[in-house]
Amino acid sequence: MPQDKGLYMPVEIPRLDDKFINNLDNYTLPEIAFHVAKNLLGDDIPEDDLKKIIYDAINFYAPIVGLEENVYVLELFHGPSLAFKDFGARFMSRIMSYFLEEGEKQLDVLVATSGDTGGAVALGFFGVSNTRVTILYPKGKVSAIQKLQLTTNGQNIRAIEIDGTFDDCQALVKQAFTDKELNEKFRLTSANSINIARLIPQTFYYFNAYAQALKEGKSKIVFSVPSGNFGNIGAGLLAWKMGLPVEHFIAATNVNDTVPQFLSTGVYQPKPSVSTLSNAMDVGDPSNWVRIADMFKENMTGLKKLVTGYSYDDEQTLKAMEWIYDAYKYVACPHTAIAWQALKDWQQDNHTGTTGIFLSTAHPAKFPDAFPDRISDKVVVPKQVKELEAKPKQYVKLGKDFEGFKEYLLDNG
Ligand SMILES: *Cc1c(COP(=O)(O)O)cnc(C)c1O
Repeated sequence: MPQDKGLYMPVEIPRLDDKFINNLDNYTLPEIAFHVAKNLLGDDIPEDDLKKIIYDAINFYAPIVGLEENVYVLELFHGPSLAFKDFGARFMSRIMSYFLEEGEKQLDVLVATSGDTGGAVALGFFGVSNTRVTILYPKGKVSAIQKLQLTTNGQNIRAIEIDGTFDDCQALVKQAFTDKELNEKFRLTSANSINIARLIPQTFYYFNAYAQALKEGKSKIVFSVPSGNFGNIGAGLLAWKMGLPVEHFIAATNVNDTVPQFLSTGVYQPKPSVSTLSNAMDVGDPSNWVRIADMFKENMTGLKKLVTGYSYDDEQTLKAMEWIYDAYKYVACPHTAIAWQALKDWQQDNHTGTTGIFLSTAHPAKFPDAFPDRISDKVVVPKQVKELEAKPKQYVKLGKDFEGFKEYLLDNG
């Protein structure tokens, strides 16, 4: 976090050369990632080191899958935690480890999670030298697979089950960051999506998806992004600023619709979050919105032209999940289904001739309880999850009081 409590942004957003943009379809995902990162990071990391980091972090694919004429899904769930957050977490963990100097104090990452962030951060930092991760998750509020991902790691990852809500977990972590004694003893850092090192790698798959659509002979590309904290769509807009010629962006939310409301009324009114079926997007005051506002500070009209917001309640979400299954025999998680619905509504609204790509942010197996039985029976649980079931779960149970949490940290230093 910068001293002024704002968020870091690049001083200047580089525009990528036309030759690269026009030939995107000749590059692989890691090649694209390297080129984009090199332009954003400049000389901060020597090329050979950056290449190593990229090839180690982005070691899974992100395919677009055609579901009908001009409707594609971008599958971002092929990483170890089965959610798009793997892109950010894997890149960030390696960057943090890279900048840790020899002999320096271990980096202690504290992270509160409602489910997906914790798994990605745990698996991203797993085995990364001189780092330790402590994950706080709310008891009874994460899915079975998410709990496995949080609690079966061992080594430099430890899990704490808090008898409380996600907000309680978040409050404990925040208080730890301001506690004098803890900061004297440990080198604490956060791993949530306000970290710029999580945002940068998320630009990579926009370029790569665009490249794949070019290969299919498509043009006028539109991205529909299921949004919570607005990091994901923020990365898409950053890619646009770097020169990716995207036609339009759709910000798809559940009933936590602060941004869609802003885009249609011009009034930005954060509100307390409401629980929904797409719980990774239950955010009433999106932390990355200020970054988007900053990118368009001289051109709010431009932002409103480029981005349209849509929001849906749980009933509509469920209906979308059923539609997708019945029409395509494809299973989409609730977050993904919202992005699909928004894309369909936008295309219907006189935007024929565009090619829509909606982002699938998580594998449906992570949210088995969200589906009616006839669909959840069709979800194929990936092999890496089955392997977790054989491993012992290790976690500590704590209450939501700060003193107990602090004592645990100090006693287990
Ligand atoms: C985190 C998450 C989101 C929201 O992404 P933001 O970058 O916070 O907008 C959407 N879907 C899933 C499955 C997630 O885990």
